[in-house]
Amino acid sequence: ASRLGILGGGQLGRMFAHAAQAMGYQVAVLEPEAACPAAQVAEHHVQLAYDDEQGLALLSRLAPRVTTEFENVPADSLKLLATGGFVAPAAACVSIAQDRLAEKHFFTRCGLHTGVYPAPHWGIASEEDLNSVKDDLLPGILKTTRMGYDGKGQVRVRNREELHTAYALMQGHCVLEKMLPLAYEVSVLVARGVDGEAVVYPIAENVHRDGILFTTLAPSPNVSPEVARQAQKAALDIIAELGYVGVLCIEFFVLTDGSIVVNEMAPRPHNSGHYTMDACDTSQFEQQVRALAQLPLGSVRQHSAAAMLNILGDVWFDGERQREPAWDKILAIPGAHLHLYGKAEARRARKMGHVTFVASSMELARANLRSACVILGIAAPESA
Ligand code: ATP
Ligand code: MG
Ligand code: MG
Repeated sequence: ASRLGILGGGQLGRMFAHAAQAMGYQVAVLEPEAACPAAQVAEHHVQLAYDDEQGLALLSRLAPRVTTEFENVPADSLKLLATGGFVAPAAACVSIAQDRLAEKHFFTRCGLHTGVYPAPHWGIASEEDLNSVKDDLLPGILKTTRMGYDGKGQVRVRNREELHTAYALMQGHCVLEKMLPLAYEVSVLVARGVDGEAVVYPIAENVHRDGILFTTLAPSPNVSPEVARQAQKAALDIIAELGYVGVLCIEFFVLTDGSIVVNEMAPRPHNSGHYTMDACDTSQFEQQVRALAQLPLGSVRQHSAAAMLNILGDVWFDGERQREPAWDKILAIPGAHLHLYGKAEARRARKMGHVTFVASSMELARANLRSACVILGIAAPESA
């Protein structure tokens, strides 16, 4: 069988491997950690660093087509792999998504034809930049330009004094964003093939808890048809402008006045797209396989309403004791699809799995998600 390669061995790599294997591919993973979720299921595990030249050469020899599941993979590694095979998404696209300021410049450029812009912002790399911050960017959020995720690497600042303190602690390159009045948050998953054919999934609505994605409802129950169309069109324009190949997820804010703002993008399948595995004709992982293998993209039709609940390590903890959650009770809920990532150790705030409830209506899917929260002993989201 022909082989597909992947940089990164986390749960996204594992679910990609499952989809690839279902379609007859073998999978090779480059990942320095031994017992990672993807290496448990892949046929080949190159256990070296993402920038190890020998590791990259080995991966290249094992798999002529390579993708990434980790957005902070060194862009140079993707470039190197592209000299010997097909790499999607390309290093240039991943580089933009790795740098918030480059990403915002790119979104601003796209805004000229999508009409959707990023939050007002200002890049800060020096004291001089810091002192030229305009008043109307405060209160704001100071974010590191690189490596931030799950709300890490960002600080909310109410005034100049807090901004100076925060910048002194963060160091390096940052971007200050104006704090916007969010009504709710949505994300749009798009995919594009080498031939330029692109597809867009239904819009998903996301609730975070402590900076980590908590639930996704799809299709978004709050979004109006016009806003959904606008976000989907912006996502299609963005993926075309990038010349991107593969699955891309773009986060948007819906503001209290009903307008939308583009926040950030992830150059890979995304946690908010996990619902596609159980609720759409083609999952985001199968779509990534199709794009990478240069096969036709699959239908993005959603056949069931879906409510996805992330399962964090916290639910293993009962005070000091650790115990396996009651999966039998979760699976007794109609339409429950449990996905566990095979992580050996449960740690608080660690993504261990997710469960998606599919149903004939969003009301039912949400009610089932709420029942699961009761079983797991976690507070249900107010909006779900
Ligand atoms: P992810 O885990 O999605 O990659 P991240 O750490 O890269 O997250 P962001 O998505 O930029 O960070 O921000 C995290 C959250 O902070 C957002 O989902 C949103 O709730 C809030 N937030 C970020 N920027 C703004 C803003 N300009 N105005 C209001 N809220 C914001
Ligand atoms: Mg991010
Ligand atoms: Mg985000």
